[in-house]
Amino acid sequence: MSVKLLGPAEIRDLAELLDVTPTKKLGQNFVIDANTVRKIVKVAHVEAGDSVVEIGPGLGSLSLGIVEAGASLVAVEIDGRLAAQLPATFAEMAPDAKLTVIHEDAMKIMELPDKPTRLVANLPYNVSVPVLLHFLEHFPSIRSGVVMVQAEVGHRLAAEPGSKVYGGPSAKAAWYGKWRIAGTVSRQVFWPVPNVDSVLVGFERDAVQPGDEALRRRTFDIIDGAFGQRRKMLRQALSDLCGSSAAATELLERAGIDPTLRGEQLNIAQFVSIANAS
Ligand code: SAM
Repeated sequence: MSVKLLGPAEIRDLAELLDVTPTKKLGQNFVIDANTVRKIVKVAHVEAGDSVVEIGPGLGSLSLGIVEAGASLVAVEIDGRLAAQLPATFAEMAPDAKLTVIHEDAMKIMELPDKPTRLVANLPYNVSVPVLLHFLEHFPSIRSGVVMVQAEVGHRLAAEPGSKVYGGPSAKAAWYGKWRIAGTVSRQVFWPVPNVDSVLVGFERDAVQPGDEALRRRTFDIIDGAFGQRRKMLRQALSDLCGSSAAATELLERAGIDPTLRGEQLNIAQFVSIANAS
């Protein structure tokens, strides 16, 4: 398929045409480097015939890279000017590509066409974790993906128990599957240049999730309790959730978990055991 990618000049021309000044509120840092786009698409193993969903296509830099690899694309963009422009950009740069644009807040999306199997996105930094968890929760067709996020957030998502940065997002992400740091990205590939570093994070959904939706909710409540008071032992951290420290101790013992451990020491399977015992 014949596709042209966007470079710095095209990005600036498009922004000027639309009278777009990138906003911090919507995390608008656009990728202006075609090599970075191709690297993300490669790391995400996007292949011909894939159905990919992208959150926040912006001016279309990464979107064009995704369809260049032969995938069809569903793109969810909150900014009306950007959502309206994307089909016009595609008509010029990738006329044969299959594109569906949804103008909506990705956090509110409950249905997607085409049952996408991959998620590829340069996520808006202020909502990266909730939007990622929302998509994994609501769209089981998504089996794998690569997202660009703030470095700190990426390391947290991929962290193992016992690591300093292991927290609620790490444990919740692990409910869905395996996560890894898949590369770093220079600040210079963005316009405007952000004041934080970025990394690529890859994930593969496990063939089977640890349980049904009711169990997931209970597990996530326990994770929130455990990390709400990170420095405290679990018997204390879960006392509000259980009604008392004695009830929390009893629950933890039923689940076979030492009540004097802290949340940061537990893996997802152990959080699931507590939820199962509750
Ligand atoms: N993908 C483009 C790129 O790489 O150049 C833009 C990435 S930019 C970091 C994030 C994009 O997400 C922006 O286009 C922004 O308008 C959009 N966005 C922000 N919040 C959003 C939300 N809640 N739902 C959907 N899109 C959102």
